Amino acid sequence: MRNKLALILLMVFAISSISLAQNSKVSVPDIPGYYTLKGDFHMHTVFSDGHVWPTFRVNEAIRDDLDVISLTEHIDYEGFPDIIEKDYNKSYEIATKAAANKGLIIIRGVEISPRVAPYHHNALFLEDANVLPTEYMKSGKAQFVMKDSITHDQLMGPFLAVKKQNAFVSYNHPSWGWWDKKDTVLFTSFHQELLDLDILKGVEVVNSGNYNVIAHRIAMEHGLTMLCNTDEHYDNHPRYKDTHRPMTLVFAKEKTAEGVEEALFAKRTALYFGDYIVARQAEAEALFKSAVSVSVERKLRKSEPLLVVKFVNNSDIPFETRMKSEYDIEGYPLGKVKIAPHDTTQVILRAVWSYPQETKLDAIVENILVAPEESLQTEFLISTKGSHE
Ligand SMILES: [Zn+2]
Ligand SMILES: [Zn+2]
Repeated sequence: MRNKLALILLMVFAISSISLAQNSKVSVPDIPGYYTLKGDFHMHTVFSDGHVWPTFRVNEAIRDDLDVISLTEHIDYEGFPDIIEKDYNKSYEIATKAAANKGLIIIRGVEISPRVAPYHHNALFLEDANVLPTEYMKSGKAQFVMKDSITHDQLMGPFLAVKKQNAFVSYNHPSWGWWDKKDTVLFTSFHQELLDLDILKGVEVVNSGNYNVIAHRIAMEHGLTMLCNTDEHYDNHPRYKDTHRPMTLVFAKEKTAEGVEEALFAKRTALYFGDYIVARQAEAEALFKSAVSVSVERKLRKSEPLLVVKFVNNSDIPFETRMKSEYDIEGYPLGKVKIAPHDTTQVILRAVWSYPQETKLDAIVENILVAPEESLQTEFLISTKGSHE
């Protein structure tokens, strides 16, 4: 009897722990030739102005099913100078130790954060975060005070230093604060200079779950890698408890820091926030086609020939599509078909009369953006040969 009770308790525990794991699991497919790694490349700990210890970020990332993170402390601001000794390599070192053998990759990074152009930037894949000059600062100890007059060279200092370390540099949250009101165009001459010097490589199109259309335009116009980061300073759970954590999907040849680095420099990313994906055409199409498989069956309904198309979505992402066929799409006004996550969606094509060898379905996927004003357009070529009649 007691054994039975123990067994039941064990089963209840097993079930509840599985459902807990399922809640935090984020299911997005690999794409042909690449692993899809889930990343967040911008967050803070007590080693700058965050309010958690680096090990908390590691546990949080594992809970949120991420593969790679970077703790990007401000090099010019210390939140707790009386308690925490200034060392911008420390959070990386603590996190790396905590993440050992847990399948989470830690990238050494920092945030360079002056409040004049070029504003905030992350530098990732550093070798040493303690050798970056911050000559534009008067004091960064518990308050952020820049010098009264700042030279261009002082602002350029940390960027030239990270270039020496072959860092990946990205423009963070463009327009946040609009500190310098004369910079109404957010891609300033300073950014152009960083681009010309081959320093600037990326831009944060989504920060803290907020999509930034200006940043998206900057990415497209200047050919920059797109990123989606939380920039979290506290525990991110309250902010994203009703959804998944916003993340940068990185399409990497291997599951290593080097693999992530190669992919970021090659611009192979997709941004996954809420039910949206933002990516360039190639990655957007590959992700959608890897998530959704399609098959067709010939069927007769009261001797009316039909084509029954089945879409199987093996991802967490619900796809809002508008479909077009040379036949009539039954039951979906305007061809608006929602392909629900982890489900099969059936679309019946009518007025077929004589069966074709293959048929084409055009699809616009409205929640996948390939440009600020443009959703993904793709097509399914479906062979109807050999399907039942
Ligand atoms: Zn920032
Ligand atoms: Zn930040």
